[in-house]
Amino acid sequence: MQRLTGIGVSPGVVSGRAVILIQRAQALRYQISSARVPLELKRLEESRERSRQQLVDIRERVARRRPEMAALFDAQLLMLDDPMLVPRAAETVRTQRVNAEWAVQQVFQEFRSVLDDVADPYLRERTGDVADLVGRLKMNLRRDVTTPRDLLSALDESSVLIADELTPSIAAQVDWTKVRGFATDAGSRTYHTAILARSLEVPAVVGLHSASARIQAGELVVIDGASGDVFVDPTEEVLARAARQDEERPSVAGNAARGASGGRPATTADGVRIRLDANIEFPDDLVAARYAGAEGIGLYRSEFLLADTGAAIDEDQQYEIYRGMLEGMAPAPVTIRTFDVDEDQLASQLSRGRLAGGWVLNEARTSRQGLRGLRLSLTRPELFQVQLRALLRASRHGNLRIVFPFVSGVDELRDARRMVGAAAAELARHGEVVPRVPIGVVIEIPAAAYTADLLAKEADFLTIGTNDLIQYCLAVDRADERVSGLYEPLHPAILRVVVMVRRAAARHRIPVSLCGEMASDPALMTLLVGLGLREFSMTPGAIAMAKQVLEGTRSDDMRTLARRVLRLTTAGEIEAELMAAFGRLSLK
Ligand code: PEP
Ligand code: MG
Repeated sequence: MQRLTGIGVSPGVVSGRAVILIQRAQALRYQISSARVPLELKRLEESRERSRQQLVDIRERVARRRPEMAALFDAQLLMLDDPMLVPRAAETVRTQRVNAEWAVQQVFQEFRSVLDDVADPYLRERTGDVADLVGRLKMNLRRDVTTPRDLLSALDESSVLIADELTPSIAAQVDWTKVRGFATDAGSRTYHTAILARSLEVPAVVGLHSASARIQAGELVVIDGASGDVFVDPTEEVLARAARQDEERPSVAGNAARGASGGRPATTADGVRIRLDANIEFPDDLVAARYAGAEGIGLYRSEFLLADTGAAIDEDQQYEIYRGMLEGMAPAPVTIRTFDVDEDQLASQLSRGRLAGGWVLNEARTSRQGLRGLRLSLTRPELFQVQLRALLRASRHGNLRIVFPFVSGVDELRDARRMVGAAAAELARHGEVVPRVPIGVVIEIPAAAYTADLLAKEADFLTIGTNDLIQYCLAVDRADERVSGLYEPLHPAILRVVVMVRRAAARHRIPVSLCGEMASDPALMTLLVGLGLREFSMTPGAIAMAKQVLEGTRSDDMRTLARRVLRLTTAGEIEAELMAAFGRLSLK
């Protein structure tokens, strides 16, 4: 038996088989059952084939302009078939029974340690190529895994989660009817996730430093959330004590079911209605959204339609997909965001002559500034019209709202509205009945936030996209790890911007929601309710917990908290205040 001691943050003693979740490596690691091995191997193979197709396409494009550079991609294509890469990852999946992402990551680490030791600088530089290729394989693996809840859904009934770090938005998606407790390397008593654990009544220990490296997936573990002890491979006596104490605990399954609140809409403890919609990337996620209790779709990122390699998506195909979604959700609203792609992604398609009838997208989405989102759509009216026509044709099959991404001012909104008008007129000429569709704007560029009052005059609704807004407001590129620590949703600037946009919408009597990741963190959402927001759109897996937290919290307490927080000076102070208050507000 091994005993690790951390900080007990949520009382209760549970035992279970360890599931390891590593977030910092940007690859989740978890133990799979033997029945799932063939599925993981298939995912790996599909990722390889998608990567191959993408590399062949890129190589072809590059060869036309810079033939000398094409060899780089030849090298990556060769590596794709190297027995040390994908086949070795497959073997890792089989022998260690881990998910494909983790196997790929592990193989990469082995590669890197070998290359780091060689003296030849040419060979050492190849690490970059391997990293690039591994990144591509992981990106293509992500395509068919939507949420950590999916990742964690194949677990046995009694698992305990051991993580390097467990962010609240991931914690909110874990199926706590199967995961009985958790322990993390990171954290303190006021760690957001610790507070959530108490609210969920899930035993938890944090601040263990290296538990995720020292505990092996599948090992039997006892977590004592009162004393802060974690026992690995416990003795019979420790196990028996755990079983006795566990029996006295209220059932977590019951607790989580309470959290899901059936189909009831979310309401605070003092009866204020809060609208919770879902953000989805794939039309199939509609089922998960409904199941999770979403009232509607607050954001469908339509560019994921293009993420599939293969044929272009033409107008009729888009129409069928949008129609399916609208019918599937009717009468609830479905907010479809027009493609949020950038110039490079589009250029790669133009060069292949694929764009006659539609758009295809092969590469990872980026968050670069430039010709992106609505700006790009406006420079390609012939392509934008295809999407608008498909949307408008589908609109009579349900409750559609169209939202434009990356808008920086009123001019763009007017141009876009004109294009919608032109598409509607053309359809009407062909005898189609086109209902009036509400048009909204994603507020995610600071200029749009500062002109939210002007935009609100001409838009039917606003939605605050804090993922981009935070990065542009704070001038922090999240991909640059030297500054990513400055990416701070609780920066006073962000809270002020949110208040400004909410007020602008209220003055013009149009709805405003918040659809960034911030909404998936129940503590942050509580504060946002205090700041006056009443509508959120979030990843489906986070909805049940958001409802549960709201039901236990009074809106007037949240308002008082928000007033106090708005007078504070730094993100650190705000966070400390929020954590202390959140603990008091939602934990009875
Ligand atoms: C956002 O920017 O907050 C948002 C919801 O959109 P995305 O994450 O797709 O940029
Ligand atoms: Mg965005």
